[in-house]
Amino acid sequence: MDLARTLTGLDGKGYGDYKRILGEHTLALPASQPTTARLLVDRVQVDPFAPPSLMRVILDRDPARIPDDVLADTAGRIATGDFLARVIARTARAQAGGERRSPRRADRDQPPPIAIGTPGQQVLERTSAVLTPAEVEVRITVDLPASGRRIRGRQAAQLLTETLPGILADALLALDTAALRAHVRLHRDQLHVQSRLADLGLVAFVGHGAILPRRSGDSDLPLQRGAVPFRSPESLRVTLELPHDPSLPDSTADRQVTGMGIPEGVTVIIGGGYHGKSTLLRAIERGVYPHIAGDGREWVLARRDATAIRAEDGRSVASVDISPFITGLPSGTDTRSFSTTNASGSTSQAATLIESIDTGATALLIDEDTSATNFMIRDARMRRLIPASREPLTPFVDRVRALRDERGVSTILVAGGSGAFFDVADHVIALDAYVPQDVTAQARAIAAEDPTPPTVGSPEATPAVPAAAVPTFTFPNPAVRIPDAGALRPADKRKFARARGRTSIQYGREDIDLSAVLQLVDPAQTQAIAHALERLADDFAADPQLSIAQALVRLEERLATGGLEALSHHRGHPGHLARPRIQEIAAALNRLRTLAIRTQAADSYGGSPA
Ligand code: ADP
Ligand code: MG
Repeated sequence: MDLARTLTGLDGKGYGDYKRILGEHTLALPASQPTTARLLVDRVQVDPFAPPSLMRVILDRDPARIPDDVLADTAGRIATGDFLARVIARTARAQAGGERRSPRRADRDQPPPIAIGTPGQQVLERTSAVLTPAEVEVRITVDLPASGRRIRGRQAAQLLTETLPGILADALLALDTAALRAHVRLHRDQLHVQSRLADLGLVAFVGHGAILPRRSGDSDLPLQRGAVPFRSPESLRVTLELPHDPSLPDSTADRQVTGMGIPEGVTVIIGGGYHGKSTLLRAIERGVYPHIAGDGREWVLARRDATAIRAEDGRSVASVDISPFITGLPSGTDTRSFSTTNASGSTSQAATLIESIDTGATALLIDEDTSATNFMIRDARMRRLIPASREPLTPFVDRVRALRDERGVSTILVAGGSGAFFDVADHVIALDAYVPQDVTAQARAIAAEDPTPPTVGSPEATPAVPAAAVPTFTFPNPAVRIPDAGALRPADKRKFARARGRTSIQYGREDIDLSAVLQLVDPAQTQAIAHALERLADDFAADPQLSIAQALVRLEERLATGGLEALSHHRGHPGHLARPRIQEIAAALNRLRTLAIRTQAADSYGGSPA
């Protein structure tokens, strides 16, 4: 039966009757050329307060006039999907705003009844709009209208058979192909620059003219007035060629970007308070994702695996080898397999660091503002009063070189409050009123005049580890961590894991707090991580010998072949998911308070340098 008639017929009935519209329908799109689309109602909400219903719309690619060249590669398909999601989201919001015209702010801020997820400043792989050679599939959520617990059938009919086709026609049948091409080109260029970083021996790139500051502490939008555009010091300046684009008229001159290349090694960012240090580091953190045109950070790109590390007291830690930083605790605890339900600032930062490099981070991003001071440095006076034998901590300043030499891990560090890192820095960048200068030579000269002796190397510095186990290498090979059977099974199987906003996941009866995971940028990523944890739980249950590292590799393979949908347990509409990095998936797993590690490889010492 015709969808409009079905819905009108349901008017006034109990809300549960909405399930009668499950299945496939045909929509007529208002356009000069008669165009139809298929509407697939995959899931219907059980009551008006439940998460909205999941529907898909499938239409032929031809009427949408999406050119072939934008779909020629994965980057192009991701950027096109992102572009369509943005256009539809904008159209749906404009529609809802136009219809409501309510003077009440609370009403105006309500999400529109038809939604596709809200892409932010980053272009991420998403499940919202996907393209096949012949079709466009749009995944939407629809809040089906109710009056109390009764169906508002007429309104629902209007929403699905008039408003929705109108949005689709406005958004997709009048697509701005030039804007789409520009969106795709930028994305491809950004990924090109990102992929070149390792070959060029760079950890990150910050383009000339970049606008790094944000509008406010809780906004990801660019500062509008008074922002000082980024400019690289001469010595760190690099120019990168962008790939040839056949869709452009021959304009080779502007097919390049110039900016500051931050080389591998240890880079310290210094400068007075409020001179823009954290802002620069923040932008680099976010530079693991490509940003949309107009964001200001389009040409701020970091290696895909660069990971921000911060102190996070209170987090749980499950069998992590933090012995490079902490040994000989007064309690006698073996820090080669350290577990706690309530880490201190320094132990949490040490654990997060080790977990990150074990997950493959080749660059660490650390800000003094969010670090435990005793994890970072220990000054000469303190060294005199508290001998190394009484101090379990070896500060990061004394390990940052070994990290580089043994594991090939670079560090970009903001340290405006201490010159202790001058001795170990390859590059020192000073920010002066937001303008960076290369002060490496001056910093070296100061360090040479007045060197800080390292704690490592002094005879008392490595207490408590038995002689036989004294490491040849400071940083062990990644430990083999195998979870305890059942450690990942949610206590309540009926409740699947789900995201609560961007920074929290409900996993069984537990909440995983991700507020310290700085490079999680989108709630749709968090939702994808929630699903990923369920898939990991299945994998660990199926194979009791599976280690965390192996499981993560397997998950990445699954994502590469099956896409994001491979994570979802729903058939059809997978929900609004965005691709997280493997680093953030691991971060969530490592913060699960029920995680217990059964085995940890004993031979984790004596690894080979990377
Ligand atoms: P620091 O870490 O050096 O103390 P922040 O990075 O926190 O400084 O920046 C201090 C203030 O300056 C913030 O309000 C930030 O938005 C602003 N800011 C940072 N960079 C710029 C810039 N390039 N132009 C204008 N304002 C900036
Ligand atoms: Mg700061």
